Amino acid sequence: LWTQVLERLQSRLSRPAFETWITTAKVEQLTEKYLVICAANPFILNHLQKNYLQIIADVVEEILGYPIDIQLTAAQGENIAIIGETEMSAYHPSTSLGDNPKPIKLNPKYTFSRFVVGPNNRLAHAATLAVAESPGREFNPLFLCGGVGLGKTHLMQAIAHYRLEMYPDSKVFYVSTEQFTNDLIAAIRQDSLQSFREHYRTADILLVDDIQFIEGKEYTQEEFFHTFNTLHEAGKQVVIASDRPPKQIPTLQDRLISRFSMGLIADIQVPDLETRMAILQKKAEYENMRLPREVIEYIATHYTSNIRELEGALIRAITYIAISGLSMTVENLAPVLNPPLERGEVSPEVILNIIAETFHVSVEDLKSNSRRREISLARQIGMYLMRQHTELSLPRIGEEFGGKDHTTVMYSYDKINQLQKKDLELSQTLSQLSDRILLASRTQK
Ligand code: ADP
Ligand code: MG
Repeated sequence: LWTQVLERLQSRLSRPAFETWITTAKVEQLTEKYLVICAANPFILNHLQKNYLQIIADVVEEILGYPIDIQLTAAQGENIAIIGETEMSAYHPSTSLGDNPKPIKLNPKYTFSRFVVGPNNRLAHAATLAVAESPGREFNPLFLCGGVGLGKTHLMQAIAHYRLEMYPDSKVFYVSTEQFTNDLIAAIRQDSLQSFREHYRTADILLVDDIQFIEGKEYTQEEFFHTFNTLHEAGKQVVIASDRPPKQIPTLQDRLISRFSMGLIADIQVPDLETRMAILQKKAEYENMRLPREVIEYIATHYTSNIRELEGALIRAITYIAISGLSMTVENLAPVLNPPLERGEVSPEVILNIIAETFHVSVEDLKSNSRRREISLARQIGMYLMRQHTELSLPRIGEEFGGKDHTTVMYSYDKINQLQKKDLELSQTLSQLSDRILLASRTQK
């Protein structure tokens, strides 16, 4: 079976990817129900888990004709629980698709003990800890806001871990706004609104992430308003996270703005150098790595505004060292530690040009109202990427595309976002396009 799997993977992945990540893995156990794959080391394990588990599972299913559980371990079996960026350590084919709403998944690493407190997040940390200790009392709702990758999701899930550890039976629900919306749509379709409501309205603590995505979703706003009220009146805790304050979320109903502002709004700022270094230090400790100070300092000085990217740089460094066998110095790490571009440094023209070139259409086509399939797909992908790589608002992105409505932009973004989760080819195209956009912007500077 494994040989067949390898053959198929080889034809679907790029050669370096295949050689680095796949050929180094061995089959440890294979039964009718599951396959255990052993990665050469924990870093490869981490990467496999994050990027290739799904495609391996798909290929195995294709060959066998039915899905089986796939598990990954690393050669030095210890520590796999804490190494690895994903929340899942195994891929389980979903046998319970009818489940509505779906159970929550927490990232085991998002705990208070792994959170580094600095001047930038002191208030948010104190408030979430207070909420975890006595929910529904002081700060209700608690509204966390701050830019991408600054620890909002981490703090929210820390509340959940804390409560569930102390009171395993308590009903702590963590949900993204996207999930809430999808659950709601599914409930309406399946005529099970009642059980949707029962589910969300019986929470002891409801943690709703990325509420900014409720923008433009009238019906979700309506439903969430009632969920919120029911919980709040019953003294149950609600915590909301957003990348901006309630007032700056376009189309957010006034009554929601006023509800969200009833409790505490705690914002998280970009961490200073010292905090960034402390975060790297702590992360490295958990990965059982000792890093030279110069490397920590280098990474911390070059990755300043997003902790996810800061951590990403660290993981790339560790992986690269593990694979190349080089020693951990700033010079050796140069190939993997090019400082990233900040959002906002990418111009819309660069995106339009690259999209036009890739899809063999003209920039005028992209700005036109043509509904020809190739053009409208290219346009939607362009809108998606513009939203990802620039700080332009939805209406501004619409203008870049010849004056389209912001709802069109939102629709395109959602559509591509949904598609790329299922369509491996599309998601690879998107990441190649992203690379090209970033590269072009870097050289343009
Ligand atoms: P957000 O939800 O604000 O976009 P996340 O909570 O997903 O950001 O954080 C991004 C990454 O940075 C996560 O891996 C998280 O563990 C890490 N992180 C953020 N802030 C801290 C911190 N203060 N200490 C340790 N890790 C942090
Ligand atoms: Mg988040």
